[in-house]
Amino acid sequence: MTRYLEPASRSGELLRLVLPRMSQHPAAFNPLTYAVWYEHLAGINAKLSAAVEKCLAGGGKLDDAAIARLHRDHVADIDAETAARVSGSMQRVMEELRQSASEAGGSAGEVAPRLEALSRALAGGDAGAVAAEVDGMRASTSRLQGALDVLREQVQSSRGEIERLRGELDRTREEAVMCALTGVLNRKGFEQRMRELFESPRGRPASLALAMIDIDHFKRINDEHGHLMGDRVLEALGRVLRETVKAPGAAAARYGGEEFALVLPGHTADEAAELAERIRVATPGMPVRQRQSDRKIAGVTISAGVTVARAGDDATTLVARADAALYQSKHGGRNRVTVA
Ligand code: GH3
Ligand code: MG
Ligand code: MG
Repeated sequence: MTRYLEPASRSGELLRLVLPRMSQHPAAFNPLTYAVWYEHLAGINAKLSAAVEKCLAGGGKLDDAAIARLHRDHVADIDAETAARVSGSMQRVMEELRQSASEAGGSAGEVAPRLEALSRALAGGDAGAVAAEVDGMRASTSRLQGALDVLREQVQSSRGEIERLRGELDRTREEAVMCALTGVLNRKGFEQRMRELFESPRGRPASLALAMIDIDHFKRINDEHGHLMGDRVLEALGRVLRETVKAPGAAAARYGGEEFALVLPGHTADEAAELAERIRVATPGMPVRQRQSDRKIAGVTISAGVTVARAGDDATTLVARADAALYQSKHGGRNRVTVA
């Protein structure tokens, strides 16, 4: 978190930009608050900026709770290395811009005294002096022109550079909530999605279903075919989940190990059970093949537990109920869907 403080205070540019804005809000001056304001004002975190603008709409103020929430949801996800690299590049871009701007400013400053000297020469009626001042004027304005051209180019290229940095940050943030093996959300992404749904200012969706899915006898698959083949099974199931869970706002996540969760806003228990059933039916036929070998696995099965949110539920109670339904499926003989 302190990653922004050191380089920013070195150049002072962004610090001068951030501090006055920060001081107009009640949140404490600390690295958390600084990071939120820095990323917002530097224009490198589009989602954060959208969330900040929403908080500020209608004269809203950022207090400690708002900063903590913004930081948790939109800032904390990037790794320290990317943050340091992006922060360093930003400082460089700012410094180059500052230099070009001050050079252009210097050339502009030359022009006024030249004009005065020219008008004095004109008033004095000395043709030689006028000619000398006109030459000086020409030299000054062409230096100014050159400096402005450099500045214009610099602004153009730094805009491109900032766009690129923003893209890099967005991608890193997305990767931080994805499971690389299965292509669905990871546990962190799952928790983030649940928080969004349970803590949304608009309130929880009218109907919110959750399905927990667990591969049957996965330990046996690993033992019989090896861990790498086990990974191919996880990968294949990830593909099935991505192809099946497509409703707006819905998400599939790897909850842990060989257990997955489907977050299904706007689904009734029946609709969620129907979706889980489609996945159950598709799983045994999914193609699982070890790369560079002919070994195949067919007949993998899953068990599922489905529930919908009730009054008084939070993310924990909802998961617990879906999990209990999943274990009913296991105890009932596996390869089935149970609704709680
Ligand atoms: P059940 O039908 O009751 O769910 O039995 P199970 O064997 O699937 O359940 P158990 O919890 O006993 O074993 C889960 C296994 O999943 C154990 C663990 O080694 C394996 N596993 C967890 N994560 C991974 C992974 O990323 N790759 C592979 N290949 N195996 C994993
Ligand atoms: Mg299992
Ligand atoms: Mg399990």
